[in-house]
This record gives sequence, structure tokens and C-alpha cells, in this order.
Amino acid sequence: MKLRVLGCAGAEFPNFRPSAFLIDDSLMLDGGTIGSVLSEEEQWAIKYIFVTHAHLDHIRDIPLLADNIVIKKLCNNVKIAGIKEVLEAISSHLLNNVIWPDFSKIPTTESPIITYWQIEPEKEIQIDGYSITAIRVDHSVPAVGYLVRRNGKSILYTGDTGPTDRIWEWADDLSALIVEVSFPNEMEEMALLTRHLTSSLLAEELKKIKKLPPHILVTHPKPQYYAKIAAELRELGIAQIELLKDGAVYDF
Ligand SMILES: [Zn+2]
Ligand SMILES: [Zn+2]
Repeated sequence: MKLRVLGCAGAEFPNFRPSAFLIDDSLMLDGGTIGSVLSEEEQWAIKYIFVTHAHLDHIRDIPLLADNIVIKKLCNNVKIAGIKEVLEAISSHLLNNVIWPDFSKIPTTESPIITYWQIEPEKEIQIDGYSITAIRVDHSVPAVGYLVRRNGKSILYTGDTGPTDRIWEWADDLSALIVEVSFPNEMEEMALLTRHLTSSLLAEELKKIKKLPPHILVTHPKPQYYAKIAAELRELGIAQIELLKDGAVYDF
């Protein structure tokens, strides 16, 4: 699986874009960054966006992608996959004909640009050769992480989460783990309040995994603290931990 980091920041600044990961060419995890990075042809290739939760930094480019598609009169369909609470939040509060048109009925209700695909936590689904499982995590709103498997390789993405348990039961034999660290250690109180992690909290989480994966890719740092978080991650002394950068590409 090719993993392309479209955005991996916990905010937006020049060279720091919100969360979005493109797997191969057609499958996305979160939709915080699309049109500022992908060419038209690359945008047309997107078939699925698996959304971890409804916070704006994880969904904000989905409405603009839909607009890009309709403006070219393409009949592309993009499936927005997520748990019930997340899809309801997107349809009620974002694509609601107030903030943005309801692209689940445009250009026609029979053949819309966007289709919502409700998935159940811990029920594996199969699409285009991928097996995907949503697993609940602990964030300030309903949220899941995703385990994506293909050809014996597996990537587990936590999305935003504070200290959590369940998802680690799915973390055996991973090719890569993408896990969040949003704040420096000195902001632990803020991290716990908003259900995010610091480097120290990540170290505690990793103790819950039987065998650490060969790649631990850290996402969602606040750009204002990028260097500090990078230093604190190094201090953990875990060789396979790497703080992600926008634009990075991996092959797992
Ligand atoms: Zn969030
Ligand atoms: Zn976020």
C-alpha cells in the first residue's frame, strides 16, 4: 500500500495542513486536505473517504472536493464512510444546504456526488481488495480509528484520541501505526481535557501493544510546538518513531 501524507498537522499554517492520508490512489483516511495538494485527475480518482470524526480539521475539504467534481460535470461518486454520529454531523452541520450544498442530492438524488456509507465499529468491510475495520477511540466527540489491510500488510490510524484501550487490541503485526501526538508534555492537562496525546502519554499507550510495529508515524502535532514535540519523541528512545511531515510518501 502506498501511503501519501496530504496533511498531518493539528492546525493550519504554511507547510502545515490538516489531516488527510491517501492510500494508493482511491482511498482516503480523513479529508482535511484535498484540493490544495491533489491535481484534478488525482481528485477524480478518490472513491472513498473514511472519516475518523467530524471535527472540521478532518472533514473540511470534502465539500470543496464535491464542488470541484460537479463544476466539471463529472458523474464521480465519492463514498463518505464513517460511524453514524459522524455522518449525521456532516449531513446536519456541513452539507446541509446552509453552510454548503447537500451534495448527497446533487446533481440528482439517484446519482449524487456524495454517498454516505455508515459503518459499524469492529465490523470488517471489504472494498476493492482492502479490508477495513473502524475501532472506537476516546476523543471529545464520537471518533474511530481505522485498520486498513491489504495483501498481508496493515496500517492502523488512530485519528484524534486521548488515552484509549480498545484500538490497541487490533495493533498486533502491523506494518505501520499512525498515531497522534498533538501537544508537548508541558501541556498534558490540555491534552487530557481535549482528549489528545503528548509524547509521554503516547509512551504509556505503546505499552498496551504486545509487539511494537516497525513504523510508528506520529501525526497531528500543533505546528507551534513541532520542534518541541519532535525532541520529546526522540527522548522516548524508541527507534521506529517518526514525526510525520506533509507530503511524505511511504510504501507498506
Ligand atoms: Zn478532533
Ligand atoms: Zn484533529
